[in-house]
Amino acid sequence: MSLRFSEILGQDEIKDYFKNAISKNKLVHAYIINGEEGSGKMMLSETVSCALLCENEGEEPCNECTSCHKIINHNHPDVIYVQHEKRDVLSVDEIRTQLVNTIIEKPYSAKRKVYIVPDADKMNVQAQNALLKTIEEPSEYAIIFLLTNNMNKLLPTILSRCIKITLKPVDDKKIMEYLMRIYQVPDFIAKEAAAFAQGNVGLAKSLVASEEFKEERKEFVSLVNSIPRLQTFEIVGKVKEFVKAKKDTTKLLNMFRVWFRDVLLYKATRDESYLIYVSDLRLIQEMSKTSYRGIEKVFEELNDAENKLNSNVSAEQVLSILLIKVKEYIQNG
Ligand SMILES: [Zn+2]
Repeated sequence: MSLRFSEILGQDEIKDYFKNAISKNKLVHAYIINGEEGSGKMMLSETVSCALLCENEGEEPCNECTSCHKIINHNHPDVIYVQHEKRDVLSVDEIRTQLVNTIIEKPYSAKRKVYIVPDADKMNVQAQNALLKTIEEPSEYAIIFLLTNNMNKLLPTILSRCIKITLKPVDDKKIMEYLMRIYQVPDFIAKEAAAFAQGNVGLAKSLVASEEFKEERKEFVSLVNSIPRLQTFEIVGKVKEFVKAKKDTTKLLNMFRVWFRDVLLYKATRDESYLIYVSDLRLIQEMSKTSYRGIEKVFEELNDAENKLNSNVSAEQVLSILLIKVKEYIQNG
């Protein structure tokens, strides 16, 4: 494993900012790094830590010196990860013992000291208040990275005292090239994983590496293929099975979106080179007989289903209605 800015896909402005801030010694003492699971928050904060503490002080961390090695192996005494025991809460005691009370101690071996708080949005109000004082009266050597999936869970007082950095979705093409290079997968698999991941590099990597993804893909295509022939009771039965197996509904909706995006593009262009499901061209062709209005309706139903799932309507009910509607729209041309 290595930690270099050049290995972080996309995020060019953010990388430039950090490289520049490190070389000019202009890092501030607290950052919020915000982005969904898998977007690379940890990789970014560890790369910055590595560059900051590297004994060779280049723009990129050398990955060769003792300091770099220790950071890569997660055993640098001056890079501290704030952990929590309970799954959903980072408590005030944990913030105190692991951060507030130790930040006053000078770095052990480096010039600077880094605190990485991986689940900062799980800090409860007391924990955030305990942290606030530390952020208000910074030490000259410590830097804190608060990593969040949703930074709005942090108090305004914390937000206003940190530099907020939000990771952006990475271009599909970049992800695809990366997957083909690193995992040596064929282009259609890389393209598909990139499309499902919606700019999330971590998710794309995990999709490509998982057998489950290939299996789910197969199941999905066979489901879509069978919809026109299924009776209502059979649709309800299939949904029941799906829900019972605790499958991921968001992923299913994403698969539908990508599928109908393909159907729409193929209908409009007759060009298969745009397709994600290029290996299922025959099915896409068949389904592209659906009218534009019908396809549009399918997308509306997908959004509607997503909203209902988010407001806790039962998955069984939402998905049954969705599939029945999809069947109706693709059959009525
Ligand atoms: Zn180094």
